Amino acid sequence: MSGTTRSGEGDRLASALRGVRALVLDADGVLLLAGSALPGAVEALDRLEAAGVPYRVVTNFSGAHRTSLAAAVSRTFGRPVRPERLITAASAAAAYTLARHPGAPLFVLASDDARREWAGQRLLDLEAAAAPEASVAAVVIGDGGDELSYRNLDIAYGLARRGAELVAMHRNPWWITPKGPTLDSGALVAGLEFALGRTATVAGKPSPVVFRQAVRELAVEVATSGARRLRLAEIAMVGDDLAADVGGAKRVGLRGILVLSGKTDRAGLERASGSGRRRAQPDGVADGILDVVIALVEARPAAC
Ligand SMILES: [Mg+2]
Repeated sequence: MSGTTRSGEGDRLASALRGVRALVLDADGVLLLAGSALPGAVEALDRLEAAGVPYRVVTNFSGAHRTSLAAAVSRTFGRPVRPERLITAASAAAAYTLARHPGAPLFVLASDDARREWAGQRLLDLEAAAAPEASVAAVVIGDGGDELSYRNLDIAYGLARRGAELVAMHRNPWWITPKGPTLDSGALVAGLEFALGRTATVAGKPSPVVFRQAVRELAVEVATSGARRLRLAEIAMVGDDLAADVGGAKRVGLRGILVLSGKTDRAGLERASGSGRRRAQPDGVADGILDVVIALVEARPAAC
């Protein structure tokens, strides 16, 4: 173990990772914290790629296209991070509308950059969406800063009221930015749900939508490599949030590994262990992502 992961935990971690052939990684609290690389994160990605372990990084960040996010993370890490390894709440929402409403008109409230995830899909512009008779299959709400104005949210409300599916990139009420705790788009989604009297389909964590997208992509990558079919139980999610990461992943049949490098500390883990909520109990615990990757790579048979 490279870190200070406790020895009993090391054995449990190794057994939780036995047979795992692919990883789904959370970003904040696992690879990054407050915009900086966490210790061991860069080495962990180097080792994963050297060992040929397929992985996806899943984040509820939805303010930019994956290429922009990958470029920013690559600069932070000082190594390339490929955009196709990232799944954001925006890219998961775009994959969802493509599968659920192919060819149908959509209204997407997001930043211009994030809206590029919908390239090839039919998006109504604001003027067309504001027409009294306008109709779309789905309204998608994401992080759009001032795009989430009263006027634009009212247009989204009207379209949803006339039958459009309400899709939220995520329901996070607030998040930490350089200015401190900041209102997030999930709070506005909750307002629309209240006005409409129904709940939104959520694309990002802890929704199964984003985990299933990761599973599909990993399965294709494994199949393309000629290896035998990837099973759900052969994928482990590594995250710092017991509910959104561990619980969300376990709900769709993945293994859930908790790292203590982000929002959950040992006291939080112990409180959760006493709560009896089985779904959010991690299969393994580690201090950080490098411990997980070392345990995984060392436990893997050579030709996996
Ligand atoms: Mg996190």
